[in-house]
This record gives sequence, structure tokens and C-alpha cells, in this order.
Amino acid sequence: MRISALSSGDLLREAVRRGDPLGKEAAGYMRRGALVPDRLVLDLILERLEGIGPESSFALDGFPRTREQAKALDEALAAGGQAPVDLAVDFMISAEKIIRRLAGRRICGGCGANHHLETAAPERPGTCDRCGGILQARPDDAPDTIRRRLEVYRQQIRPLAAHYRAQGKLRQVPGDLSIEGQYEALAGMLKREGRDG
Ligand code: AMP
Repeated sequence: MRISALSSGDLLREAVRRGDPLGKEAAGYMRRGALVPDRLVLDLILERLEGIGPESSFALDGFPRTREQAKALDEALAAGGQAPVDLAVDFMISAEKIIRRLAGRRICGGCGANHHLETAAPERPGTCDRCGGILQARPDDAPDTIRRRLEVYRQQIRPLAAHYRAQGKLRQVPGDLSIEGQYEALAGMLKREGRDG
């Protein structure tokens, strides 16, 4: 089965890079590790979802992050004749491990490829394996901003798990595995759910 992937964070970072009015408004929130206002995120994501046909499957990464976003998503899918959200995946990982992961993450300024100083180190330090671009830490992966993002998660995003649990859609998957182990855990869950095509 072909699954399209959409990441709200990636879409926002693209809008910031392009200097779109939406990106200009979102940038300050992102730099501080705060949530971007719902109306901006919804503008970006819902427009993309419209482009995905009703027969296609898709995975949303980092969206929805608030109840308002979840509600707007449900309404948009219904209005577009698309199937409702069927599963929400909760990756289980400690705050300590998240901090290690984010602090070691390095993104290519050229092609956006992800590397990690410990688990996916580039062959040449500071240089992207894929395109030779320069690797940088994400500005919001600075330690103080990571702490802020974890607090935002606890207060604003975590309650969404209860929303999907109440609908019988929440599935918990370990989130602290190697890249291959992570893939296996997610693929195994989708297979058990009969979503592997
Ligand atoms: P991410 O790449 O998912 O870690 O997101 C990076 C940043 O983009 C977050 O810290 C927020 O500032 C913003 N962001 C991404 N997705 C959303 C969303 N669904 N709602 C609000 N803000 C978001």
C-alpha cells in the first residue's frame, strides 16, 4: 500500500525558508519551541490533504497537536469524502532519551537529510552523506528550547492521546529503538492491525 507522509514541522520549516507571510508569522513560535497557532498550521496541512485522493492512505507526522486541530482534521476528511483517521501512534520514550536524540540531531541545510552524531553519524564530520551540504543543529534543538518543547508536549499535546484512546484508535509503540528496530516496531503494529496492505 502506498502511504503519503506529511509532516507539519517540515511544511512549516519550508514556509519559513521561502519567507512566506505564513512562515514569517510562524518562525518566532518555532524558535521559542511554542506551538504555532492552529489557524496557520491548519491552512498548511488541510490544503495538502485536499491533494491526496480519497483512495490514498496517509501518515501525519506531528499533526494534530491540539484538540482544535484534531477536530478540524476530522471535519476536513469528512467534507472531502475521505476515510476518518483510523490509528494514532504514540511513540513511548523517556524525556532523557528525547533530549539525547534532539541534541545530537544534525540536518543538512541543502537537502534536509537527517543525521545523528551518535546513531547516524555522517562519514565526513559536518557534511551531508547524501548531497555534501553543511550539517547544522536545528535552532529549536538547543537545550533550553528542547525543555520548553517537552513542557508544551506535557501540557498541550499529551491530552490528545486521551482523545484518540477514547475512540479506540491509540496504539503505543516503543520510541527508543534503533532506526531499524523502530521501523520493525511500527511495521509490526501496522501488520497486526491489518494496515500493511
Ligand atoms: P516538529 O518538526 O514536528 O518537531 O515541529 C517543529 C516545530 O514546528 C514545533 O515545535 C512547533 O513550533 C511547530 N509545529 C509543528 N507542527 C505543529 C502543529 N501541528 N501545531 C503547532 N505547531 C506545530
